[in-house]
Amino acid sequence: MSAHLLDGKKLSQSMRTTLKETFAALIAQHGVHPTLAVLQVGDDPAAAGYARAIERTCTGVGVCFSAQILSGESDQGTVNSLLDQLNGDSGVHGIMILEPLPAQIDGNLLVDQLNPAKDVDGVHPQNAGRLSAQRPPYFVPATPAGAICLLEEAGVEFKGKRAVVIGRSDIVGKPMALLLLHRHCTVTIAHSRTQDLPAVAREADILCAAVGRPEMVTGEWVKPGAIVVDFGTTYTDAGLKGDCEQESVAAVAGMMTPVPGGTGPMTNVMLMQNLLEAYRRQFGI
Ligand code: NAP
Repeated sequence: MSAHLLDGKKLSQSMRTTLKETFAALIAQHGVHPTLAVLQVGDDPAAAGYARAIERTCTGVGVCFSAQILSGESDQGTVNSLLDQLNGDSGVHGIMILEPLPAQIDGNLLVDQLNPAKDVDGVHPQNAGRLSAQRPPYFVPATPAGAICLLEEAGVEFKGKRAVVIGRSDIVGKPMALLLLHRHCTVTIAHSRTQDLPAVAREADILCAAVGRPEMVTGEWVKPGAIVVDFGTTYTDAGLKGDCEQESVAAVAGMMTPVPGGTGPMTNVMLMQNLLEAYRRQFGI
C-alpha cells in the first residue's frame, strides 16, 4: 500500500485565491482594509521568520500586515500598553503575539489581555473555552483548523472513528482533539507520559502527531489503511522533517499529510480565514 498524500499546498493556494476575491469585495464595500497586527518582542530568528511568512500571506490575499516590534529589553508594562493600544484600534482587526517572548515577559498575561474578538490565533482562554464547549463565536487555532479542512476536502468520514492525537499543546494537540471529538470521533490524547505509545497509536483510524520529534512515528505504529496527520516541523541537517517517518508510514497508511506540503501551508491560510471572520464580526456582517 502507498498512502494517498493530502496536498496542503494545492488546497491552500485555491483557498488563497477565494480569500483574495472575498477580501477585495469587502474592501470595495466598506472602504476599510482588513489589518493583521503582529506583536513581536525582540529579534528571535524563529519569530522573525514566522512574521515574514505571515506578511507574505497577508500580501498574497490583499490585506494589511502591521509589524509591531518592540526591543527585546522591553518590560511587561511596555508590551501590555502596546497590546492595549492594538486592542482598541478600530483599524486593527486581528492580533497575533509571536513566540518566543523574552524571559522577562509573561506570555500568559499578554494572552489574557488580548481582545478575544481580535484573537485570530485562537489562544485567548475565552476562545479556547468556547471551542471546548462548542459555543460560538470562537476562533480555532489555525494549525488544527487547517488539518481538519484538508481532511474534509479529502472526504474523510469522522463519525465513530478512533482518533489518537499525540501531543497536548494548547495550540495544536488539544484543539485538534476537540475538533475530532466534535466530529464524533472517539479520541485519545497521548503525550510524553503515555505508556506503550506505539500500541496506542496502532488503535487509531486517524492518527495525528503534534510532537516535534522528527520521524518518531514509524510504519509499525500505524494501523493499515489509517489516516495520518503529521504536524511536526523540525529543521534537521537532512532538511525539514515531520514527526512521521514518511516512507514507512506511507507504506502502511491509507492517507497521510506529507512534510513539507501538508499541514504547514494550511496554517497561514486558516489564519487569513480567521482574520476574515474577525473583520466580518467587527462590521456585524
Ligand atoms: P509542544 O508545545 O512542544 O508540545 C509537544 C507535545 O508533544 C507535548 O504535549 C508533549 O507531551 C508531547 N511529547 C513530547 N515528547 C513526546 C514523546 N516522546 N512521546 C509522546 N509525546 C511527546 O509543541 P507544539 O507547539 O504542539 O508543536 C508540535 C509540532 O508541531 C512541532 O514540530 C511544531 O513545530 C509543529 N507545528 C506545526 C505547525 C504547522 O503549521 N504545521 C504549527 C505549529 C506547530 P507533554 O505535554 O507530556 O510534555
